[in-house]
Amino acid sequence: MKKKKVNYNYGECEICNTPMEEEFIKQDFWIRGKLIVVEDVPAGVCPKCGEKVVKADVGHSILRLIESSERIAKAPKISVPKIKFVAEEARI
Ligand SMILES: [Zn+2]
Repeated sequence: MKKKKVNYNYGECEICNTPMEEEFIKQDFWIRGKLIVVEDVPAGVCPKCGEKVVKADVGHSILRLIESSERIAKAPKISVPKIKFVAEEARI
């Protein structure tokens, strides 16, 4: 497995002021009613509260990737559980 290292300084968490650590995360997007998961997105993640920040240029790159319907058509598919919201069943 190749180790990716970007070493971008994400600064401190906006919520709890903890220094952010770089991690490669999964981000999910809903595009025309379809869920698309983008893997290995470099992001700053707060080790304390879990807040995530993505750099603007990374955000733009993601948008370009998910706008490509050809790329999406070729992408491997995963299945995800789908649960209906039923308030009565959620009661403890
Ligand atoms: Zn935080």
